[in-house]
Amino acid sequence: MSRREEPLTIPRENADLRTFVRKKRIRIWLQTLGWEVFWLAVFFYYHSRTDMTFDYRFSLVLSALLVAGLFLFGWIRMMVDRSYVGVIRQIVFRRVMNTDLLGNRGGKSVLAEQMLLWVEETNGHRHKIVIARKKNFDRYYHVGDQIVHHSGLPYPESNDGADRYLYVCSLCGGVELTDTDHCHGCGASLIKPPQSRYTKTEERFF
Ligand SMILES: [Zn+2]
Repeated sequence: MSRREEPLTIPRENADLRTFVRKKRIRIWLQTLGWEVFWLAVFFYYHSRTDMTFDYRFSLVLSALLVAGLFLFGWIRMMVDRSYVGVIRQIVFRRVMNTDLLGNRGGKSVLAEQMLLWVEETNGHRHKIVIARKKNFDRYYHVGDQIVHHSGLPYPESNDGADRYLYVCSLCGGVELTDTDHCHGCGASLIKPPQSRYTKTEERFF
């Protein structure tokens, strides 16, 4: 099953994707730090200014811990989002209603098409990947295909898609033909297959 021998890091030639992941990590880390500093400041402000009862102070500490914990949880989730290779065991399509709670779309709710990939690693670990359903995904992802998830990138790369001359953009999910270096939709670089797979596909021609 392990056709892919090289380490699961994003290739050097995909510098833009590496930068994207690095920036995402820094952003999450700073957000976490920011919220913790904010809640500590709130706590110390109340602590110094008011004669609070013990109960009130206790609940304030609890809520501060809860909020800090939630953001820390998000950060930890990002940190444990490791790269892996797995096989698609099940594909589920679903429609979800994205309710516009913040009023960004003028209060209109949008019906979003999603694709759920149940992926199993060689060691038996199961992962659920939820991605927005994009054009040509039915041609790109299939049950039984081997996929590579790169930590921090939303769309997994299919090793079998390469055999069908199809490539997915790791950032926007646009499906491209093999002969392009960059995504037509967002301009991100496409992760190219290891050399072994190029020779494998060429062998089919001769
Ligand atoms: Zn793209």
